[in-house]
Amino acid sequence: MHNNIAIFVPHAGCPFRCSFCNQNTITEQEHLPRAEDVRRICRQAFAEIKHKSQTEIAFFGGSFTAMPEPYMRELLEAAQEFLGEGKFSGIRISTRPDCIDDEILTFLKSYHVTAVELGAQSMCNSVLQANHRGHSVEDVQQASRKIQQHGIELGLQVMTGLYQSSWQNERETGERIRALRPATVRIYPVVVLSNTLLAKYYQSGKYILFPFEEMVQFVSEQMALYHQAGIRVIKCGLHASEFVQKDCLAGYYHPAFRELCENIIYRKKMLALFQESGQTKTIFSVHPNCFSKAIGQKKSNLQYFQETFQKKIQIIGDDDLLLYEVK
Ligand code: SF4
Repeated sequence: MHNNIAIFVPHAGCPFRCSFCNQNTITEQEHLPRAEDVRRICRQAFAEIKHKSQTEIAFFGGSFTAMPEPYMRELLEAAQEFLGEGKFSGIRISTRPDCIDDEILTFLKSYHVTAVELGAQSMCNSVLQANHRGHSVEDVQQASRKIQQHGIELGLQVMTGLYQSSWQNERETGERIRALRPATVRIYPVVVLSNTLLAKYYQSGKYILFPFEEMVQFVSEQMALYHQAGIRVIKCGLHASEFVQKDCLAGYYHPAFRELCENIIYRKKMLALFQESGQTKTIFSVHPNCFSKAIGQKKSNLQYFQETFQKKIQIIGDDDLLLYEVK
């Protein structure tokens, strides 16, 4: 189990706006927090969260290491009194890959920053350029290695289906991300938000998105590959929010995107076993916590077997099985 206390710094430090980004909508916040806000949020979380040693204080929504140093210090210092024995385990920040060097990593470590997440988004330079990211694939690779060398946990964030990306680009991105061996990834299939460059491109017909179903299939394959590689997918799909829903013009917004992908992972595994057995085995075991993933949204996996093979399948629990394991 792992929790974050999310404190948002919308667009702080960002040198410009990337094609898809509108942090004011995503974070539901207009203003930047000050030290007293950090203390108030942490104090409240401290009273509410039981598993403090598995919880990090997280500064998300901007380019943390590109913020002015006094502001970084202000926020990090305010968080210090909530860290240590019997308190929260560390600090997590997200930032741009071209804003990492040895000096900043030493600085972050001195304030107990335990994890750095980089917005990689794509691992193809043409896609990065087309989406005004302002950094290269090589920046992601270099920054990732530096973070790991400093003994800080590495997280990478990818955005699937960006403007001018192809399925080939997406597959290469997945492979290159796995080659960097991050501890965690977040996968964000594109959501076209109003007041972004992507919104303009979409409205003018310049940006055409892949079909929704294809994206679910692709992301489910990627999730399985990350899992096999021992990389935790800690987020898949933008969080469900009224604000995002209101400002979403197109893209892959779904309140349970991750679950849709996991349903496909389980369906494929059951299908493989079913076919191996000459379509005779119809009782599948999964971990009891994974029942709903295996059954599928609105029982979609049960229906699939019923409609495709006229077979009624049954799903039972087995505590010995791990996530995505089926017997
Ligand atoms: S994607 Fe990251 S770097 Fe780009 S504008 Fe948004 S917060 Fe800033």
